[in-house]
Amino acid sequence: MKKVWYKRLHWQIIIGLVLGLIWGLVASVGGFSDFTVDYIQPFGTIFINLLKLIAVPLILASLIVGVTSLNDIAKLSRMGGKTIGIYIVTTMLAITIGLTVVNVIQPGNFLPVETQEQLMSGYQENIEGADQSAQEVLDRSPMSFLVDIVPENFFQAASDNGNMLQVVFVALLMGIGLMQIPSEKSKSLINFFDSLNEVIIKIVDLIMKVAPYGVFALMAGVIVDLAGDDIGQALDLLGALFWYTFVVILGLFLHLMIVYSGLFKLFSKMKLRDFFKAIRPAMLLGFSTSSSAATLPVTMERVEKNVGVDEEVSSFVLPIGATINMDGTSLYQAVAAVFIAQALGMDLGIAQQITIVLTATLASIGAAGVPGAGIIMLVIVLQAIQVPVEGIALILGVDRILDMCRTAVNITGDAAVAVAVAHTEGLLGEMHFDDE
Ligand code: ASP
Repeated sequence: MKKVWYKRLHWQIIIGLVLGLIWGLVASVGGFSDFTVDYIQPFGTIFINLLKLIAVPLILASLIVGVTSLNDIAKLSRMGGKTIGIYIVTTMLAITIGLTVVNVIQPGNFLPVETQEQLMSGYQENIEGADQSAQEVLDRSPMSFLVDIVPENFFQAASDNGNMLQVVFVALLMGIGLMQIPSEKSKSLINFFDSLNEVIIKIVDLIMKVAPYGVFALMAGVIVDLAGDDIGQALDLLGALFWYTFVVILGLFLHLMIVYSGLFKLFSKMKLRDFFKAIRPAMLLGFSTSSSAATLPVTMERVEKNVGVDEEVSSFVLPIGATINMDGTSLYQAVAAVFIAQALGMDLGIAQQITIVLTATLASIGAAGVPGAGIIMLVIVLQAIQVPVEGIALILGVDRILDMCRTAVNITGDAAVAVAVAHTEGLLGEMHFDDE
């Protein structure tokens, strides 16, 4: 039987989101921002913590079970190659779309000089913070990305939130090792991870029951943080950066519509609309948490249960995707880099635009699936095209909003690639919409 609309999960999340937004605005104007920060925002943090809490055991358990269920190394490398290949191609297409839109609309040329100066001085503090993290990224040697993937201590990797890639690496290694020992020896460990996987999926169900409240608290907190006590200034900032924001969102929208429908035409017969319908709660959660890693448990649940991708594929493709595949982030980085250059009156040639394609691909792979990771990695792109890193100050004010949008696209990209890979492996089943 169909549930009434407001009892369905995605509507409840949307209601939570809108009410949170309204609360945040009213709190900023009515002067109870402090109350919101002290007594409402913490529930948002608890909600994100819950999701993060299960992310590491989930990646570990699902990838180990996923890899061992592939049964042979040849199948593993075939699926791995396919997955990474499609991930890289979709990321590059995202950047190309971003570059096209930003070059056509040229949002940087809409920005009045006074606004630039005001924003630049207003965000000095933030630049220093971003600069410091950025400097740490730049100070490392060129191969350090590779070195970083291999942890020297697993427990340390598992306790470090930003380092999901290390957990992915250990899980792959464990899975490959388990595949190569006799089954009477590997059986008990595989069963253990299998049960762990099941338990975590149950926990995800429980957490999703409180998602609308969590999203309410998160949104209220975001708006209060953004507005501070001066809603007028916040609205000014949003107004000045309207065109930049518009370009990023338009680019993300085009990417969703063009690239994923193209992907489905090539690799499956799935309708884009049905696909969006099936993963909607995951997209909304990506939007409200700004974190692919935190959204992963829900992405996995929707892709398996509702989209119909076999667990063998989803448990392999999605955890890897949440850590390395970020179409939304790479598109945003391309737009942001060109916007900053335009706003500072710099002309970017074709060589620099190609450099953006390459560096934004790497920067999005290197970005962790956590809020704000994309803007830190943006420094790499800016440095490569010799645009002053301080220009980041111009876009900081609207970054959280764009982070929300790009994260929703990031997780959609992972899910779309899971569909494509599942189809080519003959592991794509029926869709289900009835269990919300
Ligand atoms: N928040 C994004 C994510 O988790 C990364 C980013 O900052 O672009 O997918």
